Amino acid sequence: MSRLLDNLNTEQLAAVTLPAQSALILAGAGSGKTRVLTTRIAWLLQTGQVSQSGILGVTFTNKAAKEMLTRLGAMLPINTRGMWIGTFHGLCNRFLRAHYREAALPQTFQILDTADQLAAIKRLLKALNVDDEKFPPRELQHFINAQKEAGYRANAVEAWDEFTRRRVELYAEYDAQCQREGVVDFPELLLRAYELLERNEPIRRHYQLRFRHILVDEFQDTNRLQYLWLKLIAGFASETPAAVFAVGDDDQSIYGFRGAEVGNMRDFEREFRVANVIRLEQNYRSHGNILDAANAIIANNSQRLGKNLWTDQGAGEPIRVYEAVADMDEARWVVEEIQQLVREGAARGDIALLYRSNAQSRVLEHQLFSTGLPYRVYGGLRFFERQEVKHALAYLRLIANPDDDTAFARVVNFPTRGIGARSLEQLQDAARMFNTSLYATVPHLNGKPAQSIGAFVKLVEELRRETADLSLPEMIDHVLEVSGLRAHYRAEREGQERLENLDELISAATGFLHDDSAPVEGEESLPGDPLSRFLAHASLEAGEHQADAGQDAVQLMSVHAAKGLEFDVVFITGLEDGLFPHENSIQEHEGLEEERRLMYVAVTRARKRLYLSLAQSRMLHGQTRYAVKSRFFDEIPEGLLKWLTPRVQQGFGQHYTPSRGDSFTTSAPRQPSRDLIGFRIGQQVRHARFGAGVIVSAEGSGQDARVQVNFGSGGGMKWLALSVAKLEAA
Ligand code: ATP
Ligand code: MG
Repeated sequence: MSRLLDNLNTEQLAAVTLPAQSALILAGAGSGKTRVLTTRIAWLLQTGQVSQSGILGVTFTNKAAKEMLTRLGAMLPINTRGMWIGTFHGLCNRFLRAHYREAALPQTFQILDTADQLAAIKRLLKALNVDDEKFPPRELQHFINAQKEAGYRANAVEAWDEFTRRRVELYAEYDAQCQREGVVDFPELLLRAYELLERNEPIRRHYQLRFRHILVDEFQDTNRLQYLWLKLIAGFASETPAAVFAVGDDDQSIYGFRGAEVGNMRDFEREFRVANVIRLEQNYRSHGNILDAANAIIANNSQRLGKNLWTDQGAGEPIRVYEAVADMDEARWVVEEIQQLVREGAARGDIALLYRSNAQSRVLEHQLFSTGLPYRVYGGLRFFERQEVKHALAYLRLIANPDDDTAFARVVNFPTRGIGARSLEQLQDAARMFNTSLYATVPHLNGKPAQSIGAFVKLVEELRRETADLSLPEMIDHVLEVSGLRAHYRAEREGQERLENLDELISAATGFLHDDSAPVEGEESLPGDPLSRFLAHASLEAGEHQADAGQDAVQLMSVHAAKGLEFDVVFITGLEDGLFPHENSIQEHEGLEEERRLMYVAVTRARKRLYLSLAQSRMLHGQTRYAVKSRFFDEIPEGLLKWLTPRVQQGFGQHYTPSRGDSFTTSAPRQPSRDLIGFRIGQQVRHARFGAGVIVSAEGSGQDARVQVNFGSGGGMKWLALSVAKLEAA
């Protein structure tokens, strides 16, 4: 046992060995929260305080769950397969599969990912003849999910105005549609599990008695519904509540936009009568300069529970800063720098490229690709979200559950089988009338639609029959062939990669069967057939499977996706005002504080070396945008930074504070600003000495107006007073 607890500092040791009561570990980045949580599980098991089946562990990503199981396996001679350690969604899925009847779901219920959900909402609006300009599908999706995440069914939402009343009606219609089709969306997994626990006393008692220790990582990012679910399953109000061990960092709360509530931490302390709040203050991850920068940045936030972080690792290297003229130059520099690091012996996998928005990865990927540097993107377009993979999954979903209209609509005419839009409309209308799924409606059709769509139904039925005795990989192979998907992509000019992805799906299924958790001791076999389990896995674990595999590669991901991870070398790119902090958040105090927490997360991912970079102009969403450096630069003590590019521009660092929504300008036609005497940001101009340039930012107004112009190779960046510079519109 001593080995398990070796190398823990005093506070960590205290946290790991706390008595079986609820506790909160509140500590900054890299202080060992996740390590403490994992070690505590091992310690509880080793000291015989609880059996493997008595532990419920909640992590933020599936990747984190896998890592935790691997680490546990390394700490103890146990088989960790089948332990209830996973994400909220993964755990609720498992729970609902075990109790599908009580949850009023078909045994083979399917999970809608975000894109499927949007498609289902669009289909609903169309069927109900709802004006989608008045009720934009995306907004409605957001509304519905926000209600679910707060724990509200449609009948529990209070609507004070007509517009909201209508949205609530649509929410109810949408839920009815999902129920009819036997599908659940992400927030529904949680809400359904929560309602079942609440309603069903025997099931609730069973789990309350079973899970004696509940351990939650990244607690600051739990939303209301997740918190309520925890309360129920922990039996917080009972005589013998489970011990809930929550670890978190309020400074890393970055999902406020998705309904996460830091307030849950305070409620948790009170409602679970937390006697022990332990703070960890030593950071084991980052060198001093990096940690100082992170501390300095986060100190600008006002709403903090407050803590200090220190390290004994020494200052290390300064933080390197690079300012590029354009995003392409930034990407080129990043890649050159990485090549240099690799030449010096760094492993590619120890290098991470972070960005605020996924759209930024394109330029970086392009550059990496053309240099031949292996890289891997986390998030972004994930494997299971690729078009061809979704088509294949749709066939599989129909085999598992023919009432899944989203799957039906996706492949009824893919590959094309001459089913016209008119026929499909007739089918949809009839389905509405009979209140049945599309699949079940087909026999009611007459005429041409009956024939064309009928043939499709026959195909699906054949597929089901023919694959009944096949293993999962064989089944997929068969479906790819007989559905015509392979033939379709073989005929496509650029189809090679898609064909490879379809084959990869078979490999994924093989790997899945191999990893698929065996039951933990004392539990019956896993609920659901392999196909249903695999389909749930595809919805829930999108991308993470692929990201783990293969060779040593540079890691690309958004800052959100980097939470909890660490790398020797980190590049934070696109540090421009309006991009990071994001323009949608700049105007509001709360929003800016969340961006700052995000920046804190980004900086604290680095162990040894941190690079910050920005570009003066950037192509995003088809437009060239110009910006000044991120205000976060001003929050880092100058002495920690080492500028790799000369800081030539006069006035650099002063922020152009424009009117609302203006802080990140685009080159799209816009109203000329009177203040700039006829010039506007993004405008092409000409100067007698410096030649052609483009205005990238401005400050002051009237006679005092000054503009920052990028003259490229002709003269670089220059600040010019408009009243004297004699700029001409080009
Ligand atoms: P985050 O807030 O980013 O999730 P965290 O608090 O969960 O961070 P960990 O990931 O658990 O921190 O730990 C950070 C790093 O420090 C890991 O590499 C971990 O192994 C290491 N570490 C933690 N505690 C110790 C210790 N006592 N001795 C040596 N290394 C440690
Ligand atoms: Mg952690």
